[in-house]
Amino acid sequence: MPAETFEFQVQARQLLQLMIHSVYSNKDVFLRELVSNASDALDKLRLEALRDDTLDSDTSDLHIAIEVDKDARTLTVRDNGIGMSYEEVGRLIGTIANSGTAEFLRELREAKDAAGAEGLIGQFGVGFYSGFMVADEMTLVTRRAGETQGTRWSSRGEGTYTLDTVEDAPQGTAVTLHLKPADPENQLHDYVSPWKIREIVKRYSDFITWPIRMVPDKGEGDSEPEPETLNSMKALWARSREEVSDEEYHELYKHISHDWRAPLETVRFQAEGTFEYQALLFLPEHAPHDLFTEGHRRGLQLYVKRVLIMDDCEALLPPYLRFVKGVVDAQDLSLNVSREILQQDRHIRMIQRRLTKKVLSSLKSMRAADAQRYAGFWREFGAVLKEGLVTDADNREAILDVASFASTHDEEPTTLQQYVERMKDGQDDIYFMTGESRQAVESSPHLEAFRARGIEVLLLSDPVDEVWADAVGEFQGKRLRSVAKGEAGLGAEDGDSAEGEREQRNEEYAGLLGWMKEQLEEDVKDVRLSSRLTVSPACVVSDDHDLTPALENMYRAMGQEVPRSKRILELNPDHQLVKGLNQAYKQSEDRTGLVGTAELLHGLAVLAEGGRPKDPGAFVKLVADRLERAL
Ligand code: ADP
Repeated sequence: MPAETFEFQVQARQLLQLMIHSVYSNKDVFLRELVSNASDALDKLRLEALRDDTLDSDTSDLHIAIEVDKDARTLTVRDNGIGMSYEEVGRLIGTIANSGTAEFLRELREAKDAAGAEGLIGQFGVGFYSGFMVADEMTLVTRRAGETQGTRWSSRGEGTYTLDTVEDAPQGTAVTLHLKPADPENQLHDYVSPWKIREIVKRYSDFITWPIRMVPDKGEGDSEPEPETLNSMKALWARSREEVSDEEYHELYKHISHDWRAPLETVRFQAEGTFEYQALLFLPEHAPHDLFTEGHRRGLQLYVKRVLIMDDCEALLPPYLRFVKGVVDAQDLSLNVSREILQQDRHIRMIQRRLTKKVLSSLKSMRAADAQRYAGFWREFGAVLKEGLVTDADNREAILDVASFASTHDEEPTTLQQYVERMKDGQDDIYFMTGESRQAVESSPHLEAFRARGIEVLLLSDPVDEVWADAVGEFQGKRLRSVAKGEAGLGAEDGDSAEGEREQRNEEYAGLLGWMKEQLEEDVKDVRLSSRLTVSPACVVSDDHDLTPALENMYRAMGQEVPRSKRILELNPDHQLVKGLNQAYKQSEDRTGLVGTAELLHGLAVLAEGGRPKDPGAFVKLVADRLERAL
């Protein structure tokens, strides 16, 4: 079959252009990426051979080889791992599967300077393609274990690549880079220099558990050259802390997570005794784009006695810690254990419990050590961690302990502890308000009286906030209360006289309130005077045990049927509009003219909390009509 030529996807082409005109200053990392892919391919073959003993493959000497040819100026990274089929090469190498890529390219175009662009590349990584930083042509020859025919892929990184079948390809993959011309000023840094290769492998790939052998250039001497193993292959998690540099940890993190940046924090854990295991966990600095989509779970690996047996082992940590990457190496597990069995395994459950506590306590120390850095972490992952408040009652305290919230106190996020310390005399509850964004929450009318009295309110705007506050209920004996639910509970400010005044007012408004309740019956279950408003004419609130509108919508979005719960309309008796309406109500026999005003008040209240009037068209007509009359 003759070689076929294919076009790169638009996105892949754009990415390649970037690589060729390299915005990334540290070109050495291309080798790390190719070695990392080769190592993954060896892991995959070993796993597959373990599960399927009919697989026709050779696993006797799994390794990575780096070969250079100075005269031809080529560098080859070869592995005898799983390899790829013809179809896989087209799918995996010809396109860019990463769903974040489109977004990445958009951000990259918007990045003004080279430093910004480099940061972005660091964030996404582009694996295999990084070879084009140093090569003007790349060729890949591969044969999938168990198959007889191989595939050759080749590209100059411009618009196209070719695919071709080959008959005598060895098992695994060889990637050959046709290097760009050498810089005569800088011979030592040329990628055909054994010294350079040794240095790069040592720096970035020492921990790789497979041997990485350098095969010297045949032209170097007369005798057949001896391959040299470049890496120590020592598992970092099995070595003592003093023996391992931060950089080495970081490289392991990058290899596992496919993140190009260093992790924010490294967490080590050793369990000794009857069930022995070691864990080396990493907290990333930035949340990936797919953190909230189903199926996100790249990078928590399970080893058994130094042998990788599962990638993405979700049983090791609860879902709310799904952003944690790393390695867990256990001594006494079966090598061919399945995911289903792991979920049930007593030891795995024990590991999960211990690691969860360890991660949470590390977060606590991290915050104590550097509040600023911790704030960055919380911005990225707080919304995920808060899921644990709902799903992991055992660790609720520990999660609350490290949680931060926006608040009306000031711009800085606060802990619940700090909130409690600032509570006013006579304040029994912790108040919060939920909504779509800090801004929407902050300008909602429900906060008015709290603000006027200087009572702090937490401003919660993550979707999960709607759920956990109810689930948690209280903190240090203080009830968590939504300012948009139930009676405001602000009480009278100055004792009996205010209480008396309130009664008088209720009497004064009794007629209007009853009449409005009838008029708005379809939408509200009660109309009453409010103690939470100082500026706005009206607001809507829920009963203590009602679902909030946002929560109702969430359940509906998840396909659950929930009855629409009616809310309570509260009026501000000090507002001119409300006062005027009451007067008009008292003076008129025929009140049909007032119905519109009642509906208007209700619509305004819904809008003010960021909601949507039931019939926006009718509402707009009503407003336009009133404005016209006022002209
Ligand atoms: P990433 O490694 O981040 O997924 P790459 O562009 O480096 O992205 O590689 C894309 C895919 O191509 C890999 O996920 C893997 O499935 C496949 N691949 C790359 N190199 C090899 C290799 N040496 N052996 C087998 N498969 C490979």
